[in-house]
Amino acid sequence: MTPRDEASGGKPRRVRAQQKHALERTFQYGYATNVGNVRETNQDRYLIADPLFAVADGMGGHKGGETASATALEALEAVFKPNGTTSDLVDAVRKANAKVWEQSQRDENLRGMGTTLTGFARLTGDFGEAIIAVFNVGDSRTYCMHNDQFAQITRDHSFVEEMVQAGELTHEEAESHPRRNVLTRALGVDADVQVDVVELACNPGDRYLICSDGLTREVTDEKIAATLRRFQDPNEAARDLVVQARLNGGHDNITIVIVDVIGDEDHVVTIRTPSRLRKDGTPSAIVEPDPFEETHESAPRIKLGFRMLAFFLAMALLVVSALVMVTWYARSAYFVKTDGDRLVVYRGQPESILWFTPDREETTNVTTAQVPEYAIPVLQKGKKTGTLKGAHDYIQGLLDEKTASVNAIPTTTTTTTTTTTSPAKRKAQ
Ligand code: MG
Repeated sequence: MTPRDEASGGKPRRVRAQQKHALERTFQYGYATNVGNVRETNQDRYLIADPLFAVADGMGGHKGGETASATALEALEAVFKPNGTTSDLVDAVRKANAKVWEQSQRDENLRGMGTTLTGFARLTGDFGEAIIAVFNVGDSRTYCMHNDQFAQITRDHSFVEEMVQAGELTHEEAESHPRRNVLTRALGVDADVQVDVVELACNPGDRYLICSDGLTREVTDEKIAATLRRFQDPNEAARDLVVQARLNGGHDNITIVIVDVIGDEDHVVTIRTPSRLRKDGTPSAIVEPDPFEETHESAPRIKLGFRMLAFFLAMALLVVSALVMVTWYARSAYFVKTDGDRLVVYRGQPESILWFTPDREETTNVTTAQVPEYAIPVLQKGKKTGTLKGAHDYIQGLLDEKTASVNAIPTTTTTTTTTTTSPAKRKAQ
């Protein structure tokens, strides 16, 4: 079944009792497709065959493109096993590839046709749990919104994406690169094909987006994510995305399938390690990071959303900044203080701050007997001077005053007045 309506809607499907554990999560979906502003025909096709959903973007001439995409989806639905494994799903995609390839070999007019193919199926995992198996060949994409995080699950099989992965091109440069249309993998262009597969947990509340490049070339991931958040109804979201793609140029056919996972949350489910399968369907290697970094089968689930993470990071930054400022303040001054009968220069604040205690910078040869008496209570508490030079100047000033006052005592009453005035001035400082 490859519906070709502009847009339609879907209702959750009833589950079969004997498979309740695996199938109790079901879907609501919406979709939209549009020829765009430039192309004459729409060679995109989509497949809604709950629990299998897909988008195909055909290529290869006027007739070849739409034949390839339609043939691929019809073949995929025909051989898909709802109770099968991920390997069975990969096998179904490879059979769809063979079907398109054979058709192109039979009909000269269709020679060279091919198609992208991406989407997902809900399957049963090794432990009887429901899983989402995302498959991909080409540069159509499957995304997932999970706990408000929007992530591209598939990786494009395109010339520019390979350059981006190799660090030779930025994503921004890739968007305008002259070879951005060149695919490195497509369905139906060879007798067999390598299929990427990522297995995810089937989490209620997750929203999947499957789309052709007619959307992703025109609308940024940020705006797509914002639209998926804005519209609860998947059909409304799909239609709005088509409008945005057309307003931004609509240079290509635009096809969107949005699928919401609904159901209860009784079961803890897992996001399994993504793997790429070999052509024979067996896992070859771990090739991509888990998009949401949840890996445990039955461990308590800790959901740390992006906003929560940002909050903690901001708090940590605040604490670090406060500590840096306190450290700077605690170490920024010098002061002179008595230690026994000696004057000592310390670095720090006279009053200890947190765990910062002043450091003894210099023990001078100056004693309390060499400075004016009025200064002694001040020195016992600690006299702040700002800099080390300020401390030296302050001590020298006290010595000078003391010397001046001693020299002044035997002289006239006018001089005596001067010595009492001077300390008073200094006290006031
Ligand atoms: Mg396209």
